[in-house]
Amino acid sequence: MIYLDNGVSVFSGREYRCDPKRCARNCVNLVSHGHFDHVPSSLSQAIVTSEITHAIVESRAGVKVERTTCEHVDLLDSGHVPGASMFLINGDKKVLYTGDLCTREKYFSPGAKPVKADVLIIESTFGKEKYVFPPYHETVKAMKDWAEDNAACGKHTIFYAYTFGKAQEVIAAMEGNEIFTTGPVMKVNAVLKKFGYRLDAEMLPEEPGEPSIIVAPAGGKRDPVLKKYLIAGARTASVSGWAMDRGMMYAAHTDTAFPLSDHADYQELLDFTKAVSPEIVYTLHGFSKELAKDIRTKLGIEAVPLKKGHLTLSNFQ
Ligand SMILES: [Zn+2]
Ligand SMILES: [Zn+2]
Repeated sequence: MIYLDNGVSVFSGREYRCDPKRCARNCVNLVSHGHFDHVPSSLSQAIVTSEITHAIVESRAGVKVERTTCEHVDLLDSGHVPGASMFLINGDKKVLYTGDLCTREKYFSPGAKPVKADVLIIESTFGKEKYVFPPYHETVKAMKDWAEDNAACGKHTIFYAYTFGKAQEVIAAMEGNEIFTTGPVMKVNAVLKKFGYRLDAEMLPEEPGEPSIIVAPAGGKRDPVLKKYLIAGARTASVSGWAMDRGMMYAAHTDTAFPLSDHADYQELLDFTKAVSPEIVYTLHGFSKELAKDIRTKLGIEAVPLKKGHLTLSNFQ
């Protein structure tokens, strides 16, 4: 039985909670990665998570967290952000919970690899046909070219990217340039460097100098130092899968946008599902209805969107 309430609950021999809002007692609490919408607000119980996610969660939440393992759960790379895991729960049935998923090769991950499972719980953030991203290296090249053009015009380049995951991806992709960033990103970098990640970014100087590349959190426009660069005429870009929506750069008030994503696109979600070849699929987040419909019609696999309070009696007894 699978249902959505305080994360995704899976009963298979015992009770598992995938990305619970609050850690629950008497069940196995699984935390897929260190983005705040996946980290429990109460961390009073031990969590099953990767070593990197554990360090990120402790650093970002500012509390000590107990980490444990479960003999019935395999942790597999979900390709989303450093340390992100999918969970293969080996109960009465094999249940694969992807968390946030990326199957594309990126700087820090070869991408998630599908494994066979009876039940698949897959994220569907970009589960609509129009979201098919251009190849990763094409986007990175376009970003580098744009930054070069800006420098040639004497302008700074600011890439707005999420503090954890996307910011590090952009820093790594822009390797070979001098890169500056702000405090919150430096804090995450310090944690990842302990695990051997190469992240060559320095703290943003108080006063703008020669044209440079800056990676700043998406909501960082209020940063007083960054403001000085904006006043000096810095050019700005959003870095997000939503750049596929033409209106996005206007909504984000940036000069341009690049579709570099930490998520699988529509086609990659379908390809992954096909390779897992489950009996049933539950879709979660974003375009869950649309993806479930296309899994049914295009792949011939039973699929339903997982909705809050929605109790699903699957093939478990
Ligand atoms: Zn995420
Ligand atoms: Zn998420």
